[in-house]
Amino acid sequence: MFEALQDGLTSAFKTLRGKGKLSEANMRDGLKLVEKSLLEADVSFPVVRQFMADVTEQAVGEKVLKSLDPSQQVVGLIYQELVNMMGPVDNSLHLLGKDQVTVLMMCGLQGSGKTTTCGKLGRMLKESGRKPLMVAADLQRPAAIDQLHVIGEQLGIEVFSDRGQKDPVTVCNEALKQAKKLGADVVILDTAGRLHVDDELMGQLQRIDRQCNPHQAYLVVDGMTGQDAVNSAKAFNEALELDGVILTKMDGDARGGAAISVKHVTGVPIKFIGTGEHLDALEEFHADRMAGRILGQGDIMTLVEKAQREFDQDEMLRQEERMKKGEFTLDDFKSQLSQIKKLGPLQKVMGMIPGMSGMKDAMGDMDPEQDMKRLFGIIDSMTADERRNPTKTIDQSRRRRIAAGSGVEPHEVNELVKQFDVMATMMTQLAGKGMRERMKMMRQ
Ligand code: GDP
Repeated sequence: MFEALQDGLTSAFKTLRGKGKLSEANMRDGLKLVEKSLLEADVSFPVVRQFMADVTEQAVGEKVLKSLDPSQQVVGLIYQELVNMMGPVDNSLHLLGKDQVTVLMMCGLQGSGKTTTCGKLGRMLKESGRKPLMVAADLQRPAAIDQLHVIGEQLGIEVFSDRGQKDPVTVCNEALKQAKKLGADVVILDTAGRLHVDDELMGQLQRIDRQCNPHQAYLVVDGMTGQDAVNSAKAFNEALELDGVILTKMDGDARGGAAISVKHVTGVPIKFIGTGEHLDALEEFHADRMAGRILGQGDIMTLVEKAQREFDQDEMLRQEERMKKGEFTLDDFKSQLSQIKKLGPLQKVMGMIPGMSGMKDAMGDMDPEQDMKRLFGIIDSMTADERRNPTKTIDQSRRRRIAAGSGVEPHEVNELVKQFDVMATMMTQLAGKGMRERMKMMRQ
């Protein structure tokens, strides 16, 4: 996410750091590079101007220039300014009680990811114990109705559609009646999109808004389109009074411009971000976490929350108990790696760990997914005894056999055993320690 922006900012900070004691002129030069990175990331011009004015005023002040580490102070100022620009965010969907029907209206241009996002929200609601009904009110694009039905089937969520009906307002009203019959407590309206903002579309959305009275109206925008995303958010907000924006495709080449500009330009907060094509790739948007990601500082909070949701808690407890007893085998190692895999593609996970985003460059063409598959292959080719105690049991001939069995070179088996040894020692030391102590030990 935002790799070019991250690189630009990192090199700006490097320039500042390389200067030793900073003068006002040096500071201004460094900040020019920050400004350039923001513009290249397609952040709206007025936002960049405001951003730079706020940061510069403080950065060239005595307090920063005379501080022990001015460049670090500038990183802090930029972090704070990013948080101010993107926040505050209220992530709540403002759902009514389960005995009532909350109506969420989803709008967006064609291809923004609106239908997919309806599914993602539906999934999230279903997981939190709600009963959503998704409504195919996009009568513009014939395939949209089928698409929503496919998503509904995948998720086990009811979908309402009426293929013969030409008026989306009627479809929405009928759907609300159907929701009551089905006992659904949240209705998600998938409204029509267009390639561009036009009067007919806005008129249609306004009619749905007036006659169906949605409790919340969200706009789905494609995060890869930068300022275009911001402009369409502005136009939709003028017509509809949006309650939130959902920024999609943040897993791809999104440059960051939309994430940084939307709130400041439209006054509408980003509520969620889409981070993949899968229906579970929706994250709450938090200004502070996003600022951390932009600055390459990772986003450990989102990762921890995801881990709490995805990890098999019983398995984690079992492992914890075993480690406390000083037991850690290659089977445990494999099980831990399998849990981590649940967090998503490893490259994406690494970007969220503080200090790891820089590592991605150093890895070059290395593919962690592929590496993990090789490790699993090696472990699977070992006997149960060898997995329990590889250092003592695997001799040269076994090493060769295991390597042949898993299609790797013998030295790779050796490397795994060595790595495992280090891990096993660390794991048993970490067992029983609190999170804070663990972090401290990991840093040493
Ligand atoms: P709609 O026309 O606005 O309803 O858009 P769709 O829901 O059909 O999505 C358009 C394309 O974007 C599809 O190929 C989706 O799989 C893809 N898409 C949607 N959200 C995301 C996302 O967060 N990340 C990525 N990579 N692709 C997405």
